[in-house]
Amino acid sequence: MAQNYSQELLKALAAIVGEKYVTADPIATFPYSYDASIFGGTEAAIIVRPGSTEEVSQILKLANRLKVPVVVRGGGASIYGQPRGVPGKNVLLDMTRMNQVIRVNHDSMTVTAQCGIIMGKLQTACKREGFYIFAPFAPLHIVSLGGWMSGVAGGAGLWPDIVSITVVLADGTVVKTGGGPGTNIHQPIYYNRNLGGPDFAGLFIGDGGSFGIKTEATVRITKFPPVLRATIFEFDTLEKTLELVKRHVERVNPHPFDPIMVFGPGAMKHFMPDFGEVTNFTAQGMMQGHTEAEMDVKRDIFNARAEELGGTRTPMLDAMADAMAASGGAESEMTMDWLALFNALGLTAWLPFTLPREGFTRVYYQLLDWRTKRLEEAAKKGFVCCGTWEFFTPSDASSLIGEMDAFFKDTENPEVVAFARNMMRDFQLYARQLGSIDVYNQGFMADMNATYWSPGFRSLFQTIKASLDPNNILNPGLWTPLKK
Ligand SMILES: Cc1cc2nc3c(=O)[nH]c(=O)nc-3n(C[C@H](O)[C@H](O)[C@H](O)COP(=O)(O)OP(=O)(O)OC[C@H]3O[C@@H](n4cnc5c(N)ncnc54)[C@H](O)[C@@H]3O)c2cc1C
Repeated sequence: MAQNYSQELLKALAAIVGEKYVTADPIATFPYSYDASIFGGTEAAIIVRPGSTEEVSQILKLANRLKVPVVVRGGGASIYGQPRGVPGKNVLLDMTRMNQVIRVNHDSMTVTAQCGIIMGKLQTACKREGFYIFAPFAPLHIVSLGGWMSGVAGGAGLWPDIVSITVVLADGTVVKTGGGPGTNIHQPIYYNRNLGGPDFAGLFIGDGGSFGIKTEATVRITKFPPVLRATIFEFDTLEKTLELVKRHVERVNPHPFDPIMVFGPGAMKHFMPDFGEVTNFTAQGMMQGHTEAEMDVKRDIFNARAEELGGTRTPMLDAMADAMAASGGAESEMTMDWLALFNALGLTAWLPFTLPREGFTRVYYQLLDWRTKRLEEAAKKGFVCCGTWEFFTPSDASSLIGEMDAFFKDTENPEVVAFARNMMRDFQLYARQLGSIDVYNQGFMADMNATYWSPGFRSLFQTIKASLDPNNILNPGLWTPLKK
């Protein structure tokens, strides 16, 4: 039994969720001090696994009355660690019991689900009925719907498709955000996020779980597009590659079904290990849709644009494009082939960035130089870097999101782990100074983001937080600026 809490609190929680779903046993709390990242999990006193919105509401009413810190966890797949809360005192809400698909609505093309559901399960349920959630890149088999909306949605492409969220506030109030039952008590269907009041869904997206606990959400779905085409070009300069990106996003919205992805030499080495030295930028266009004829036209237009700019194709790249097209779009499946690729490469120092398209070239090379110097330092210490990965893609017409990761051998060596962790932190400090703002609103990165807020933004955040959570019980400490 945790020393900091009374049997009464445990009993009160058990009365809400059932004895089976509350524990203070260290054998059960210990695993929550880990997560998928190298930044770590939460030291919790009590773990609670609620099964409904009503239960979450009752838990928060109780915690708020007793001023007990509450930390929320979905899949535990954060890259930058879990909220620390008040170490050793936290009541940790593990949301993964709330994993039901409530309704796939064929007429409105939406799916409503509980927020603890793992995205892969949700995607599979949608696919079974011929639908698809646009969920690019994320490790679907470990990420929860609630954790994704809270911790990363800004860059993940999901947020424009969120129609409504049911959120429990710190005092237990249940809010259903707009355009349905929340803003018209006579309308049972969630159908359009922006009707009947301000866009409160937006308030809770990317909040890191600080403003409320998400229990249900309705997300727009689309008919699964079964036809996939891919085409790959090499370019000798970043400038020409970026011009292709520009011409592409002038014509089409790259998300969801016309992505263009640019890979650097390190990444291409992993795709084509036997190809020798690769020095160029490689642009991959993908077209996903419903008919062969439509996709052929899209591919031909893409090819013409790339050729105008001096892009070249090779038999090897064509073979790779054919293989990608034949895969049918791996992101729609539960298994993440690309993640398996990363896992095999060693310990990852994730080095992501998000930048405006304008001025990108200069910053890109500065970040690349930074990485080169840091890898030289690693080599001096005898740490083996077994590869790098450079990638970026437009998430819309204005921005480019990407990463330039490095992989280290000897994944169990604590010195190498510490080096990778510092590399991730220092890269972000440097990238922030060059204007980058990364998409992750979680753990250490939330604190990093808060460090660079303008006074007006900070004041608005503090006003909203103080008003929604006056006792500061929800994920306390998240968004604390780093000491410079
Ligand atoms: C190897 C790897 C690769 C990744 N690649 C990508 C990628 O390519 N694209 C991408 O978008 N993401 C990627 N991610 C990141 C991942 O999608 C995000 O970190 C996501 O936020 C994790 O969701 P989760 O359910 O595991 O949340 P957790 O890690 O459990 O929590 C994240 C945050 O959300 C809060 N939270 C969780 N559930 C709720 C809830 N129901 N209500 C309120 N707050 C809540 C938590 O308190 C925490 O602050 C990757 C992660 C890993 C480990």
